[in-house]
Amino acid sequence: MTEETRLIYFDDSYLFESKATILEMRDREEGMKSIILDKTIFYPQGGGQPYDTGIVSGDGVEFDVQETRFEDGIVHHIGEFSNGNLNKGQPVELKINEENRRLHCKIHSGGHLVDVAMYNIDREFPSGKGFHFREGSYVEYTGFIEVDERPAAIEALNRELEKMIQTGSEITSQSVDTREELEVLCKFVPENIPTGKPIRVVTVGGVGCPCGGTHVKNTNELTGLYITKLKVKSERIRVSYSFR
Ligand SMILES: [Zn+2]
Repeated sequence: MTEETRLIYFDDSYLFESKATILEMRDREEGMKSIILDKTIFYPQGGGQPYDTGIVSGDGVEFDVQETRFEDGIVHHIGEFSNGNLNKGQPVELKINEENRRLHCKIHSGGHLVDVAMYNIDREFPSGKGFHFREGSYVEYTGFIEVDERPAAIEALNRELEKMIQTGSEITSQSVDTREELEVLCKFVPENIPTGKPIRVVTVGGVGCPCGGTHVKNTNELTGLYITKLKVKSERIRVSYSFR
C-alpha cells in the first residue's frame, strides 16, 4: 500500500512552490504517468473546485502535471515528462500555476461568502452542490423562494456581500476527525460527505462549513463578488455568482 500524501495546500493556500519526495511512479493510459508524492501543494479536483496544474522537477528533468486527481485516497499528479525520467525516492521540486490557484481560491471562497450572505439575510436552507469554476459558478440549496421575492433576495444578498467584503474578516480552516466534531462546528453538514478525503471545517464570517478546498485568507480579497442569478426549480435554489 502506498503511504499517505500529506496535503500541504491545507496549511497555506498561497504556497506555490515546495519540495517533496517521490513515493511511487505509475503508468497510466495513453503513455501518461502518475507521480505519487510524500507531500503536495497540488489540489486534486473535488468539492466543485478545479485541480491544479504545474511542474514536478528534479535533476534537470521536468514533469508536466496536466491533472491532479484523488483516486482511492491517493493524490495522483498526472502528466508527461518533457525530458528524461524521475524515480521513486528522488527529491523533487513542485511548482503550481499560481494564477490559476489564486483564481480558484477566489471563486471557491466566493461560494462560501454567498452561503454566509444567505444565512445573514435569513434565507437559511440546507446547502447542496457547489460549482466553482471560471465560468458559471453557483451554489445550490434545498428550498423555495417565491418568484416575486427573488429580486429583493438578490438585492439583499448583494448588499450583504458588499458589507462583508468591505468589513473584511479572516477565513480560517481546521481539521476534524469525526462527523460529531463537524456537527458542532458547522451550521449544516450534508448527508453525503465525500469519503477518502480528509475532513476540514472552514470558517467564513463566523460561520463554519465542511470543506476540503483552498481559500483566500480574508473576505476583503473578494472585491467585486456579486449575485448574477437566482433560479428555483423542483425545490432547488441555484444562486449564481461572478466577479465584476
Ligand atoms: Zn471551501
